Amino acid sequence: MKNGKCPKCKSSEVFTGANIKMKKGVYGSNTIPLGGILGSQIALDNYVCTNCGYTESYINNPGDIKKIRNNWDRAW
Ligand SMILES: [Zn+2]
Repeated sequence: MKNGKCPKCKSSEVFTGANIKMKKGVYGSNTIPLGGILGSQIALDNYVCTNCGYTESYINNPGDIKKIRNNWDRAW
């Protein structure tokens, strides 16, 4: 998906919100909740196929990915 090709419909009409402003914070709905006492939010980079609507989300910040490892349960 990051390469601009939709894995579902094979369209190349893929757009990304990776560079939009205010991905997190007061106006940030483009986040995933980390959980915990502080209730931190982690920003997501979204890739949307404008042909079929399929969406993928990625965490771009390596430090944020580490937080997930430290705070979430491993899926079995
Ligand atoms: Zn598609």
